[in-house]
Amino acid sequence: MASPLSCPACGAEYAPGPDEPWRCSCGAPLELAADPPPNSPQGRTVDPGEGLWTFEEWLPVRRRVSLGEGFTPLVSAGERWGEAVGFKLEYVFPTGSFKDRGATTTLSRAAELGVKRVIEDSSGNAGAAIATYAARAGIDAEIYVPAGVKASKLSAIERAGARPVRVEGGRAAVTEACLEAVERGEGWYASHAWNPAFYAGTSTFAFEIAAQRGWSVPDAVVCPVGHGTLLLGAYRGFRALYNAGITDRLPRLLGVQSEAAAPIAEAIGGDERDQSADATTVADGIRIEAPARHAEIVEAVEVTNGDAIALDDGRIEAALDRLHRGGFYVEPTSAVAPAAVERYRELGVVEPGADVVVPLTGSGLKGE
Ligand SMILES: [Zn+2]
Repeated sequence: MASPLSCPACGAEYAPGPDEPWRCSCGAPLELAADPPPNSPQGRTVDPGEGLWTFEEWLPVRRRVSLGEGFTPLVSAGERWGEAVGFKLEYVFPTGSFKDRGATTTLSRAAELGVKRVIEDSSGNAGAAIATYAARAGIDAEIYVPAGVKASKLSAIERAGARPVRVEGGRAAVTEACLEAVERGEGWYASHAWNPAFYAGTSTFAFEIAAQRGWSVPDAVVCPVGHGTLLLGAYRGFRALYNAGITDRLPRLLGVQSEAAAPIAEAIGGDERDQSADATTVADGIRIEAPARHAEIVEAVEVTNGDAIALDDGRIEAALDRLHRGGFYVEPTSAVAPAAVERYRELGVVEPGADVVVPLTGSGLKGE
């Protein structure tokens, strides 16, 4: 039986099903009540050929809607960033971004619940991932996107047979239009911001890093933060491993945003920043003014003795150039985290020889 939903804020519980609520009546994000803790990896075989599903018994879903995703390479960043920095190549996924981690588990749960149509809102990558995995599951999908979405991302949605709904007026307007459709009962909200099944998937990012390092964790993980799907997945995964006694500490979680939208950096650092509502950025993939799980993102940073900063486009573009010249063909948003490594070193937050893992989140093939 599919896991019920529960609310960590008020304790309410909801039965699983295609008509289950997308958030609690108190307004808080819901969680999967039956989330199995990791058991000892001693004696168990981690099979990279199974992708992230090698951790299936640690995931709260009973179906597997899969395209062979996960177990992405963890490689040395090379001399440009220093040998102590490892890049996790999250652009090596079926749709070219880490969002497939969450899409595979979210559509697995949708299939488990007998959902007929999923609805999602996205600036591009999450929409392409949900559309692709919905196609794999044989479930209809409707994806709300900004009117100015990149053609390559729109094409990925359309070619998978999903229906894109283009909305004028910025990212927040896209979410608003999408939620109206969800409230009208037009489909199950496969949201990378709200749906707890998505975070079950992104927590495998932490499982893989620990497994690839012989069940140890790095000093720090630097994550780009929009809705925080990867940073929260990392937090949940590393916390689960630590609580199960599999690893001996939590890595510091270092968040990074673009100056065009930096609510977490402002909440953590509080430093003054020149910010205007119509600011644009090359890092369109993380331009989120009001993350659904803001409080949990701040908690993840604080509990791990982490930090959060915002960067301007100049630093992001310089890092993108260096990535491409180093052989990492990624999209501009992917350059935010590597650029942050340099900034964190300048600030003295990251020591020169510190052991740091940095995800490269999306492929350069998505277009600039
Ligand atoms: Zn509640």
